[in-house]
Amino acid sequence: MDDGLRSNAGTAQFDSAAGAGLTLRGLAPRPAALRDGPGNVPRPTRRQADGGGFDMLIVGAGFAGSVLAERLASQLDLRVLVVDKRPHIGGNAFDRYNDDGLLIHPYGPHIFHTNSSEVVDYLSKFTRWRPYQHRVLASVDGQLVPIPINLDTVNRLYGLTLSAFELDAFFDSHAEKKSTIETSEDVVVSRVGRDLYNKLFRGYTRKQWGLDPAELDASVAARVPIRTNRDDRYFADTHQAMPAAGYTRMFEAMLSHPNIKVMLNTDYRDIVHLLPWSHMIYTGPIDAFFDYRYGRLPYRSLEFAHESLSQPHYQPVGTVNYPNDYAYTRCTEFKHLTGQQHPHTAIVHEYPRADGDPYYPVPRAENQALFRRYQAAADLLAHVTFVGRLASYRYYNMDQVVAQALAAFKRLQVAHDLIGAVRAADSVLDTTAA
Ligand SMILES: Cc1cc2nc3c(=O)[nH]c(=O)nc-3n(C[C@H](O)[C@H](O)[C@H](O)COP(=O)(O)OP(=O)(O)OC[C@H]3O[C@@H](n4cnc5c(N)ncnc54)[C@H](O)[C@@H]3O)c2cc1C
Repeated sequence: MDDGLRSNAGTAQFDSAAGAGLTLRGLAPRPAALRDGPGNVPRPTRRQADGGGFDMLIVGAGFAGSVLAERLASQLDLRVLVVDKRPHIGGNAFDRYNDDGLLIHPYGPHIFHTNSSEVVDYLSKFTRWRPYQHRVLASVDGQLVPIPINLDTVNRLYGLTLSAFELDAFFDSHAEKKSTIETSEDVVVSRVGRDLYNKLFRGYTRKQWGLDPAELDASVAARVPIRTNRDDRYFADTHQAMPAAGYTRMFEAMLSHPNIKVMLNTDYRDIVHLLPWSHMIYTGPIDAFFDYRYGRLPYRSLEFAHESLSQPHYQPVGTVNYPNDYAYTRCTEFKHLTGQQHPHTAIVHEYPRADGDPYYPVPRAENQALFRRYQAAADLLAHVTFVGRLASYRYYNMDQVVAQALAAFKRLQVAHDLIGAVRAADSVLDTTAA
């Protein structure tokens, strides 16, 4: 290919192109006055007469962008350009081998779990799986206890020998009854009492969110299950597994269709006016798309401190949480997740930060209200589809993003079929008129 982009078909390599320096034959940038609609929103540009350009411009090569690229290319035979400003595909689920040959997740541990067979069936076209049940321990009062709270957590923390039948009564006797449940503190304290709340939730939440649980929506703690049995798996979903060769290999397989081209190290704004495209799929932050016209949507970020250790093992389970001690929230040892056999091991500590890459939308009512203003602006743009966790300002797990992208594809497919039918009808009418 000699068009300034290299096809990724059949290779594991993805090209990086400095968008600003990109020149494509026959494509001069259009004058600024023609470029943008109201509010500097990018507008589609007409495909070239020779069929050049792209049907779809996809911003972001994470799960949302990659699923849609694969579906649109393979099912509708559309020409797709995927652009990501990072130097790799996979978004936050990207994994790579470090200098010691250990498979790590640079953006923090990603464990695949879902109850959706549709999502598993879809992803299984691109990867084999390694069964994996994630386990988490919390370091509290000098011992490691299972998380989510279960029978063993309570027995170990309080030196008790309760049975599963007695645990609910224990919780009831410690719970503080609330007439209304509004905050995360209310959720936990009204279920298990203040002491367990202080030992396991309060400190962790304050570190993670920079806010007291009393200031956070009930939805944050509602994600945390509490068990009365001895099940110590972190997730209870039907399907729990890791891509056998890692996430990046899976993404490579998804993006290997000959109709898909990938440009890395490229902010879409640098190329959006240079390349002809008909429809945009946007998976970046929704407030950034609209130039923060209503203000910034707050996010919590993380700093990841990765280390390689010259020892085969570091900790007994995939992740250890530190609710009350240290500045970090948790430590993950990747070999538990990946199943890799190696004489050394790799770990990561996570330090919550107020600034940095947008990772966790801050779940407060006023932030949702701000998001809804952006969503209303997005709904007016027929030529852009907003998909993924940043465009939805929701903490979605990977499977939820895949499901959302598959649903978006079905809607785009209906529109595509409709346009095809109208065009076919037009040509019949033209022929009849002639
Ligand atoms: C620390 C952490 C741990 C997690 N662990 C799990 C887990 O164990 N299990 C689970 O199911 N989920 C987990 N998740 C959630 C998971 O990361 C997301 O569900 C998933 O990555 C979302 O995919 P996405 O495509 O919506 O977004 P992303 O993966 O964020 O992809 C969006 C892409 O858009 C690109 N982009 C943004 N703006 C632009 C622009 N202007 N130009 C070009 N490109 C742009 C970004 O560079 C990014 O690559 C975790 C998330 C975090 C933060």
